Amino acid sequence: MSYVICPHCGGKHEVFGASKGRAVADATDIPLLATLPLDPRLSELCDEGRVEDYEPEGFGDVVDFIVKIADHLGKLKAKEAEAQMK
Ligand SMILES: [Zn+2]
Repeated sequence: MSYVICPHCGGKHEVFGASKGRAVADATDIPLLATLPLDPRLSELCDEGRVEDYEPEGFGDVVDFIVKIADHLGKLKAKEAEAQMK
């Protein structure tokens, strides 16, 4: 969580300075799945004891990525099992 969407101007403000996520991802060859904002709605839901109702924006891309990886790994496993049967 490196930025907040300003309720006044709608701009993206990097409250802790510029994000280093991209640089770390590039340096480690690990994909950057998403950058997430600090979201006051999450705090509100926690205070209300309803954190499970939180629906963060931007998580759809992360979920899609994880599903693709799981699908790919499943296919690799199936190929491996098939090769062992021969
Ligand atoms: Zn602003």
